[in-house]
Amino acid sequence: MYAKIVKFIQDTFVAQKFISLHEPRFIGNEKKYLNDCIDSTFVSSVGAYVDRFEKEFALHVGSKYAIATVNGTAALHVSLVLMGVGESDEVITQPLTFIATCNAITYCGAKPIFVDVDRDTLGLSPEALRTFLNENAHIKDNQCINKITKKVIKACVPMHTFGHPCRIDEIKAICDEWHIALIEDAAESLGSYYKGRHTGTFGRVGAFSFNGNKIITSGGGGVVVTDDEVLAKKAKHITTTAKVPHKWLFVHDEIGYNYRLPNLNAALLVAQLEQLNNFLENKRDLAKRYEAFFKDSKISYVKEPKDSKSNYWLNAIILENKEQRDIFLEYTNSNGVMSRPIWTLMNKLEMFKACQCGDLSNASWLEERVVNIPSSVRI
Ligand SMILES: *Cc1c(COP(=O)(O)O)cnc(C)c1O
Repeated sequence: MYAKIVKFIQDTFVAQKFISLHEPRFIGNEKKYLNDCIDSTFVSSVGAYVDRFEKEFALHVGSKYAIATVNGTAALHVSLVLMGVGESDEVITQPLTFIATCNAITYCGAKPIFVDVDRDTLGLSPEALRTFLNENAHIKDNQCINKITKKVIKACVPMHTFGHPCRIDEIKAICDEWHIALIEDAAESLGSYYKGRHTGTFGRVGAFSFNGNKIITSGGGGVVVTDDEVLAKKAKHITTTAKVPHKWLFVHDEIGYNYRLPNLNAALLVAQLEQLNNFLENKRDLAKRYEAFFKDSKISYVKEPKDSKSNYWLNAIILENKEQRDIFLEYTNSNGVMSRPIWTLMNKLEMFKACQCGDLSNASWLEERVVNIPSSVRI
């Protein structure tokens, strides 16, 4: 039954024997910039490529500032620190996300609260968020207080799943109303727009990742974006060991992090960023093919949501039920075509079992059915 799909994917990715989910493509100035970087000897934590990347990235997404970090998890962690998230705070996020979102919240000593996603966007649901807050929270002294735990709900971290934008403007309006800081986990959504505006730029801060499996990669890397100059300065300061600028003295004025992106990685990233528009077009073409292929099938193909332009980072399909999902995973993976189920819900993991949850029926429904299929840029 799934043989036709395997055949279609093999025909689509003719050049590859084993078809993986997502491979990087280095077809531009990558080697040139890396060589340049090595020749300069500035391979580490200072260098021209870091500055150049930060400027070009900010311009690209339309934010005022961009601060490069060593990976996306570090970018998320710093974003939370910038919003003042600390011990005894709570942070609302979605249960359907990659572990990094919840790890970063935990690094701050805070606890995640899980609120449901929408079935069409796969991202945080504004309705579910509003319902959760109406039932469980109240505002006191301009802070959102959890009625049950009495703790402050300080931030909300929606995630744009597989590059499909969630209803971020509605989420922002709810966060503003409830005095909750909005941080976007845009790790997967470089090149994705909601109502014409780049994802990651709706919140007070946004975090992106350039891990090897993302739409562009620096090997490992991340970036924080913001329009707030004070936050941008603080982000640069605490990600670079909080050193006070001086010609020779080593003075650090708070506990900082070594979250700097090495110049070597930034060189790779500058070259990758030049390729982004090509990659996006290529992925849109692939998405069209998948969409047409699954049109009259029992399997539904996840399309970009309303009002959005998705980067189609990872293509996703929705199988009829869990049993069919497992048959599909078994068949494709044993026939040279990689496929993967969506993440196990965060609230089911040992570390987050005790966390507070809203009604999670959409997330649970999706968890049993969503599968990612090969999505690399085709060459
Ligand atoms: C990739 C990713 C991150 C960050 O990952 P790093 O590997 O640390 O760069 C964070 N959140 C989500 C949803 C991701 O997919």
